[in-house]
Amino acid sequence: MSGPRPRAFAARVLDWFDRHGRHDLPWQHPRTPYRVWLAEVMLQQTQVATAIPYFERFVARFPDLPTLAAAPLDDVLALWSGLGYYSRARNLHRAALLCVERHGGELPKDFEALLALPGIGRSTAGAIAAQAFGLRHAILDGNVKRVLARHRGVTDDLSQAPVLARLWDIAESLLPERRLADHTQAMMDLGATVCLPRAPRCADCPIARDCIAHRDGLVDAIPATRRRAGRPTRTAYWLLLIDDLGRVQLERRPPSGIWGGLWAPPAFDDRALLGRAAADAGARALDDLAPFGHAFTHFRLEVRPVRARVERPVRVGDPHTGWFAPDEALALGLPAPVRTLLRELAEPANPECDPADGRTPPGGSERTGDPTCHEPSTAAASAARPKRSTSRRGPARSGSASSPRSASPPGTSGSRTRRC
Ligand code: SF4
Repeated sequence: MSGPRPRAFAARVLDWFDRHGRHDLPWQHPRTPYRVWLAEVMLQQTQVATAIPYFERFVARFPDLPTLAAAPLDDVLALWSGLGYYSRARNLHRAALLCVERHGGELPKDFEALLALPGIGRSTAGAIAAQAFGLRHAILDGNVKRVLARHRGVTDDLSQAPVLARLWDIAESLLPERRLADHTQAMMDLGATVCLPRAPRCADCPIARDCIAHRDGLVDAIPATRRRAGRPTRTAYWLLLIDDLGRVQLERRPPSGIWGGLWAPPAFDDRALLGRAAADAGARALDDLAPFGHAFTHFRLEVRPVRARVERPVRVGDPHTGWFAPDEALALGLPAPVRTLLRELAEPANPECDPADGRTPPGGSERTGDPTCHEPSTAAASAARPKRSTSRRGPARSGSASSPRSASPPGTSGSRTRRC
């Protein structure tokens, strides 16, 4: 394999890192395996600046792995609320439980054992191994892929398996003998601060002298962009049932899938289904609120919220459905648009308020920071364990419209709940 001598490459990268790298990230002080792992999982689809406040709240509430394992998943999801990609939080919790069960409450040092944990892929395992244990393993996150592809002039589609295998070979060939933790952080920092997706700062780059993309004018062509089909739009009608105490009815979504395990209003594929469910629940007038959009990787969700007041809430025997006062609801694990919507309902409209929440009017442009679920970076998550309102009134109804377990999968025409 041609390219610069690994030792020279690593020396230049480390020298640059010593002078320009990031040395004050919260997970670096102290750099324990647990904190490195948590940071790596948060950073899988989130930028550093966004992840930092979440990381700090998370370690304040769950300072070590056994504490995380012992916590209810609801608490973990509540603290993750707003960060998006909720499967990361569920996997984190499952992995913590497995570490308690199999590894004495600590992350394993063995690379294969790390890889066997939920939510830990090859690059994350490499980052943990190198940063937490100083082991000689490479990483290949999105930033590092871009750096190496440009440096070696790889013009192919980086999502193709043979191309990825080649990049892994390159990454491993460039590992230094020592300072693995610093090398790993240096490669990440290089991608995040110098070899930027657009307008990279080649004049400041420590590896510019043998960068093929820089030499051959290929910087803008690498990484090769995949042509993406237009994102389809799906519509969901959210029923915001509110009782005479101001409580809102929410359902916990199924544990897997988008927004899995989070709380949200009942959702429907069409307005007529929502109307029937509202009537079943004893609602009279329906109030259509302003629709908004929410972007996912493969589709755009258009949400049409409908508010309905009920005087005597239907009693629900399902533990995954409940009535919550505004402060109780906001302490739950909520998808960001639900959190924003509930805040707006709790606080009368303020024309000076800027929602800045990732929601847009239909036809508007969404945030593009998160490739699967465009969650806001600013939604505060409460560490409080949510309290369920227990004072439910009225007769129980079996098979009432309130049961989330009767929901159909997303996209099922005519189903009462869309799993988006
Ligand atoms: S020289 Fe430019 S394109 Fe090449 S690795 Fe450095 S920043 Fe990236």
